[in-house]
Amino acid sequence: MFDKILIANRGEIACRIIQTAQRLGVLTVAVYSDADAGAKHVEMADQAVHIGGPAPRDSYLRGDVIIAAAKATGAVAIHPGYGFLSENPDFVDAVERAGLVFIGPSAQAIRAMGLKDEAKRRMQAAGVPVVPGYLGDSQDPAHLAAEAAKITYPVLIKAVAGGGGKGMRKVLAPQDFLQALASARNEAMTAFGNDAVLLEKYVEKPRHIEVQVFGDGTDAVHLFERDCSLQRRHQKVIEEAPAPDMPAAMRQAMGAAAVRAAQAIGYKGAGTVEFIVDASAGLQLDRFWFMEMNTRLQVEHPVTEAITGVDLVEWQLRVASGESLPLRQGDLHINGHAFEARLYAEDVPAGFLPATGRLDHLAFPANARVDSGVRSGDSISPWYDPMIAKIIVHGPTRAIALAQLGRALAQTQVAGSVTNLAFLGALARHDGFRKGDVDTGLIERDLAALTRVPVASLAHSALAVLAAANLPMAAQTGFSLWAPLVCSMQLTHQAQTITARIAVLGPNHARVTLDGKTVSATRGDKGWQVEGSPFTPVEVAADKIYVFAPEGQYVFAPVDPLARDVAGAAAGNAALAPMPGLVKALCVSAGQTVAAGDRLAVLEAMKMEYSLTAARAGVVAEVLVQEGDQVEAGAALILLESDD
Ligand code: ADP
Ligand code: ADP
Ligand code: MG
Repeated sequence: MFDKILIANRGEIACRIIQTAQRLGVLTVAVYSDADAGAKHVEMADQAVHIGGPAPRDSYLRGDVIIAAAKATGAVAIHPGYGFLSENPDFVDAVERAGLVFIGPSAQAIRAMGLKDEAKRRMQAAGVPVVPGYLGDSQDPAHLAAEAAKITYPVLIKAVAGGGGKGMRKVLAPQDFLQALASARNEAMTAFGNDAVLLEKYVEKPRHIEVQVFGDGTDAVHLFERDCSLQRRHQKVIEEAPAPDMPAAMRQAMGAAAVRAAQAIGYKGAGTVEFIVDASAGLQLDRFWFMEMNTRLQVEHPVTEAITGVDLVEWQLRVASGESLPLRQGDLHINGHAFEARLYAEDVPAGFLPATGRLDHLAFPANARVDSGVRSGDSISPWYDPMIAKIIVHGPTRAIALAQLGRALAQTQVAGSVTNLAFLGALARHDGFRKGDVDTGLIERDLAALTRVPVASLAHSALAVLAAANLPMAAQTGFSLWAPLVCSMQLTHQAQTITARIAVLGPNHARVTLDGKTVSATRGDKGWQVEGSPFTPVEVAADKIYVFAPEGQYVFAPVDPLARDVAGAAAGNAALAPMPGLVKALCVSAGQTVAAGDRLAVLEAMKMEYSLTAARAGVVAEVLVQEGDQVEAGAALILLESDD
């Protein structure tokens, strides 16, 4: 086993790798950017090396600096985590040239799976079923259109260099093909510097089922499947293992196909073979096809660990240090069912825009595995993926595990940033999901119901009022029970102003009147409780009050009438960044006349692009940013001349 390894990553995955390394007695070196100086992964590691500025290209993507850090600290191997340099074959070559071990597959295996068209060709040759389509030998638009017609609509255009759902377009009918092709190419060129595409038959009622594989360069095994069909814009939201209603014969066939895929490229380490499955008539042996292989540890690997009892990072370290596979196929079994939910700082009603903020209060459920890279008081910065945590549960059956997921989400508390917690909770309660009737369109079909913002009940609002009133505890004051104290206050909740009256009836007893309705509350060891309602935790953090109800968190703020006017006045002439992100493109310059709805700029935040459009017609007075700038949410980007 290695004496010391360097982890070329950050956040939850760096922390998760450090944990296993520590258990195996391996020393760890963390790396960090300016934005991560006090981060959890830095605190956890035995040593840490500063590698540059906050932008990934100035730090976590600088292979040379990372390799130098490994040499300087005496680390003998590098674990890349996921994202960043994990699937970069040139980095693997450089690591090996420096005399270090890359904890992962060979550069050659990564290259073999790097482009979707070449990967599909290889898999076809190895006898793995691939999605019917056209692999793009000719990139001529007219030829591609003719191939699309042969495949029969709907078809999917995919960037061969694609990832993260980018450069992908579903086309329903021939007349839309050329336009979709142009836009897919455009996006692929910007994201990957390669605009080649392939075509696939668009699978109806698709399920995304992937197989975890593990190789030692000679042999390979699979650790069963994960179902990742719960997706939004091709991004996974909740994953589970095993796949619901998976017939044993199909599990065996998919596992064997995945192992063939891994063996065909002499695979070493952890990898995932992704399949698309036509579930329109249930799961059928002849209706799964290879989509792509991810040559790294995957975000959702914990559900596989939960059902197999295998620590995949331990296996990665053992195999990379020269051991052969720790278990044979016959030794691997499925035990129970597991779910993982990805908790993000994002503004769900605003269209799932990434959010930032200081996490003033963070509490995780006791009965779940929580993989997180942040602690209370840490910030979600605009520089990286806004993931707060992965919440993983494991139970003897799917129904029990899903109930545990609901409970775990209800016990999760985040103050200081908006999150997708309520959305995850709504998904965990979704009827179709509960029945295991999943496909990649489930979220989109029920989006309105799943993203409905719950409004606080009378009882929850009363708890916020009592927290804001901050009534002194009995011991500190001598309340006279025969002379109730009465006070009034105002709070805002979801743009509504709430006026409340509190009558203090005793040291630990109050009556709150809201909208003419009155509830009675008593205070115990854990805090206030409204009579007739279950106990609900409340947290006061940074001028806001958070009520952590089972269905999500309610945020209340004290009324501050001045602040609102200032913001309103500035917003009229300025186009503001709706989210933190990178200014990808500026579409106007000073002096230019624009019409309402014209595109002013394009912002990019982790994996998504957002067009900023003109709210009214006018003349551009000033462009306040440059392409490539990183901006905070609410920053003014472009000023229009006043229209008075
Ligand atoms: P998975 O199927 O494992 O979710 P993704 O392609 O969605 O795979 O990406 C895995 C993770 O890699 C993401 O959650 C993100 O943290 C990271 N990632 C993706 N793209 C980038 C990138 N361009 N730079 C840095 N990290 C990235
Ligand atoms: P990426 O590299 O961006 O992850 P994938 O090829 O893995 O791209 O596809 C991402 C997602 O797009 C899949 O999980 C699935 O939801 C959907 N998808 C991909 N191919 C098809 C297809 N042929 N038919 C229907 N949906 C598809
Ligand atoms: Mg994929």
